[in-house]
Amino acid sequence: MTHTEFRQRAHELADWMADYFENVAQYPVKPAVSPGDIKAQLPEHPPIASEPFEALMDDFQKIILPGMTHWSHPQFFAYFPTGNSAPSVLAEMLTATIGAQCMIWQTSPAAEELEERVMEWLRDMLGLPSDWVGVIQDTASTATLAALITAREQATEWAVNQRGFYQSARLRVYASAQAHSSILKDVRIAGYGEDNLVYIPTDDAYAMIPEALEQAILADLEQGYLPACAIAAVGTTSSTAIDPLRPIGEICRRHGVFLHVDAAYAGAALLLPEMRGLIDGIEQADSLVFNPHKWMFTNFDCTAYFVRNKSSLLRSFSILPEYLKTPEDQLVNNYRDWGIPLGRRFRALKLWFVIRTYGVEGLQGKIRSHIEYGQRLAAVIAAAPDFELMAPVSLNLVCFRYRPQAALSPEDLDRLNEQLLLRLNASGRILLTQTRLSGRYVLRMVAGQTDATWEEMEKGWQLVAEMARGMEVF
Ligand SMILES: *Cc1c(COP(=O)(O)O)cnc(C)c1O
Repeated sequence: MTHTEFRQRAHELADWMADYFENVAQYPVKPAVSPGDIKAQLPEHPPIASEPFEALMDDFQKIILPGMTHWSHPQFFAYFPTGNSAPSVLAEMLTATIGAQCMIWQTSPAAEELEERVMEWLRDMLGLPSDWVGVIQDTASTATLAALITAREQATEWAVNQRGFYQSARLRVYASAQAHSSILKDVRIAGYGEDNLVYIPTDDAYAMIPEALEQAILADLEQGYLPACAIAAVGTTSSTAIDPLRPIGEICRRHGVFLHVDAAYAGAALLLPEMRGLIDGIEQADSLVFNPHKWMFTNFDCTAYFVRNKSSLLRSFSILPEYLKTPEDQLVNNYRDWGIPLGRRFRALKLWFVIRTYGVEGLQGKIRSHIEYGQRLAAVIAAAPDFELMAPVSLNLVCFRYRPQAALSPEDLDRLNEQLLLRLNASGRILLTQTRLSGRYVLRMVAGQTDATWEEMEKGWQLVAEMARGMEVF
């Protein structure tokens, strides 16, 4: 492709992108496709000869677009939202165009120094301790893995990195029974072993019970195990439950346990000074992960990982082969030593564009209104005679179910709500997802997209109520 053609195509795509943002509401939220439908339309072999760009765009429109789930659709209330906004997209265009690999300072000084500055901004915007430092990672899963590895090395005085687990005491990890699945995966990968992940019971609000954490640690010490790491959730995935950091932090300090905070989604709420109570006690933690790529309007992937003790992180991850040595190594941050991958995308640029375009006030305004929509929806559902809230609504995620008659058994209610979700999502007009709380099937509805409005949330709720009330109850 010549530079001239690139220029023309890029202009066309800019129009396409602007049209998409304007018209996304006209697509079905989730496509009506079955497994294999898309692949069957794609040739078995790659083209031998060059194909014109028109052919690519044609197939993109005909095959790919109808198979996409539209996360920016205003009736998308599923999972947690994924960040997306005009300034973020524009920055990604620049990032892709420059195509830099930002593993060390020398490979792009501006990328490294912008990341340093933007992480300082973000740390202060979230109200984290001013002596913490941050680094951008690809996902919360990876950041939590880095935390678990650092905790492992701290607990064993860097012996596992050296010798493996040979002769090491049995290390233990603690997380609430509501912890995200990535924690289990990370525990496996970091070599702790699934059996050494101790799930701590939660209270009625699905938050970790600190006394139960201490009991578990004491019981493990009695058995000769080595308590290494605890992971507290600020905003669980099922219901945005908030583990109480202050008592958890005190327990961890008392027993020399590394405390990592998983605020992957709810971290965005910390932009609001009035929500800082969510991390009361944070100064006793060792690290925190927050995904601007969820509820801070920044495109995937962009995970902020903050640590109290940079040298522990670096000691766990630094490796310096000859071919990566540079004269500036003592003067700069070489972020390849701050996590797992060597190669790194230039992710700070989109975060910088987002923060500057909205300004702190603009971001706060959005987050504040999204929390208000969540609270309003909770009030509406609490007042509906045939629906019920299934968890406290701490932010903007509402967990609820349809409950038309008191006489239905718990299993029948599960089946009824499962049917309701299937019907709603098959309509293409809305997308919700489910979870289980206290064993029961629960619908989740969250408003956190960049341009979320109360009108859309209310419209979504009305569709849910209408479809539920139109169902035959067995
Ligand atoms: C989404 C989520 C994760 C995983 O995030 P990734 O960036 O996709 O790895 C972890 N913890 C919580 C609480 C989450 O909501």
